[in-house]
Parts: sequence; structure tokens; C-alpha cells
Amino acid sequence: MSNQNPGCLGSLLKLIGIEKGTTSDEHTEMKLPYAIRDDFLSPAELSFYQVLNQVVDSSGVICPKVSLGDIFFVKAKDKSKHTTYLNKINRKHIDFLICDTATMKPVVGVELDDSSHSRQDRIKRDEFVNKLFSDAGLPLVRIANKRSYTVSEIKERIYPFLQKEADTSKEFETQVNSNQDTNEPTCKKCGSSMTRRIAKSGERKGKAFYGCSNFPKCREVVAID
Ligand SMILES: [Zn+2]
Repeated sequence: MSNQNPGCLGSLLKLIGIEKGTTSDEHTEMKLPYAIRDDFLSPAELSFYQVLNQVVDSSGVICPKVSLGDIFFVKAKDKSKHTTYLNKINRKHIDFLICDTATMKPVVGVELDDSSHSRQDRIKRDEFVNKLFSDAGLPLVRIANKRSYTVSEIKERIYPFLQKEADTSKEFETQVNSNQDTNEPTCKKCGSSMTRRIAKSGERKGKAFYGCSNFPKCREVVAID
């Protein structure tokens, strides 16, 4: 496209933050100051990952270094509390998160504890993370950092969690369905209000249901029959 309307282009450039004097050409010629880190996984994390990979195999997907903010959301409705709790998780990550192969739902978190975990600040952080996982209902396994691991010792710790996924979600369904008398129910999972919606697709297409107002972070639904 030829540049027939410089006035329009000028305001567009201003809009996207490119001021006169620094043209877009200069921006593309100048390389951004980034390089790929050589330590995406430390040697200890890599050696553990290789054993974990044999244990999990096709029964789950291992995601390294997942931000706690990607796994959890804050239930608090109070805005000031919301920000406080969001800040507590936003810059922390878990070493490994194992997800369900089909749904990619988080199944179990795995932390590799090295010697830094005995430092006072780390102890406080670990206590917070332990309580966060426990209160939100996601299992967390801590494994002491070693030079090498055997498949059987890791299997013993992780394997019990890999098969539990299907059972717990069914349990939830029956709990939710028993809460139908109130008009606009409160979400059983996160305590937020639920709003009436109509299913646009799927088996229940055209039928009404209550959906959590925190959607899509919370996908809790209550059927209306
Ligand atoms: Zn909810």
C-alpha cells in the first residue's frame, strides 16, 4: 500500500508511541538487548526432569517453571485484598507442574528443594506455597535435591496423584447439583456470584444454567432443569 495520507500515518505512529525522528525503520534495525539463557533448567532440575519424565510417561504432561498466577486465581471479592493476594503469587513459580494429558488441568505440583530452602526467607516462602496448594486443593510434592534419582523413589511419591483426577471431578458435580433451591447460587468453588446463562453448544444446547462470574478462570456451572 502506498503512503498517500501522511497525516493519517502520522497520527497512527503517535498513537502507537513512535514519535517523529525515530522512524519504524530505525526500530527494526536496532536489535533488542535479549539473549537466550543457558540455564532454563539448572543441571539439578534437568537431571530430575529426566527421571520425572520416565515416571509420568504418557499419564501426564510435565510443565517446568509455571507461574503460580497461571495456576491459581484470587477468590477474594474485596479489591484491596485481591491485589495483595495476587502480588503474593504473581512473581513466584513452581519447579514442575504435572497436568492431565487430555484436559491439561493441573494434577500435582512438584518442588525440588535445594539447600537454599533452609534459608529464612525461603522457609517463609515455602510455608506460603504449601498452604496455598493445600487450601486451593492441589497436591504438592517436595523432593529433596540430590545428585541422582531412581525412577522407583520418584514413582512412589508422584504416581498416586496421577490416577486420582477423574474421581474428584465427579464428586464435585453431585455436590453442585444439590444446591439448586436458591435463585442465583454462589459458586461452590470460589464463592463468587453465579449468573443465569443459556448453553450455546454441547449436549445441553439451549438449556439454562448458572455459570460462575469468574469465568473463564472458574468454569463452575450449576444445571437448571
Ligand atoms: Zn467460581
